[in-house]
Amino acid sequence: MLSKKMEAALNAQVNAEFWSAYLYLSMSANFSAQGNPGFANWFAVQFKEEQDHAMIFVKYILSRGGKVTLAPIDKVQTEWASPLAAFEDTLTHEKKVTAMIHDLYTLADAEKDYATKSMLGWFVDEQVEEEETAQGYIDALKMIKDNGFGIYTLDKELGARTYTQAAPLAGK
Ligand code: MG
Repeated sequence: MLSKKMEAALNAQVNAEFWSAYLYLSMSANFSAQGNPGFANWFAVQFKEEQDHAMIFVKYILSRGGKVTLAPIDKVQTEWASPLAAFEDTLTHEKKVTAMIHDLYTLADAEKDYATKSMLGWFVDEQVEEEETAQGYIDALKMIKDNGFGIYTLDKELGARTYTQAAPLAGK
């Protein structure tokens, strides 16, 4: 059984992952409206991945005999001035998520909840990737500045991103 404290913290993470999904769907819609289909696609894939993250926590809570409690999802920003602004917000947000995952790990460690620590290991690695990816696009967009061909080329690149189900859900 999960401790009540661990259960509450994991439920808070479910909400945070759904909020992330909401944020990226909002960014995706913003870029669709602005005529950047590739950026819109990239954030639409990100939206699906965040739903996967939420589901991993939901399934885990249930597998440990815990109760899933879904709280309201806070509203998100709806407009970004540029792709750079969106990726800068993405990096800031992912750093926040990393800190949350690390806090969960610290709690699981304090409670000697080894199963939860093991489950969180995948998220610790995932967050390294999330931050590295966002930083990479920030670097690229800073080089591109307002060069139309650069934005066009990056939009094409981001348009090629496809969704793959997160490994813990795919049973890998
Ligand atoms: Mg996530």
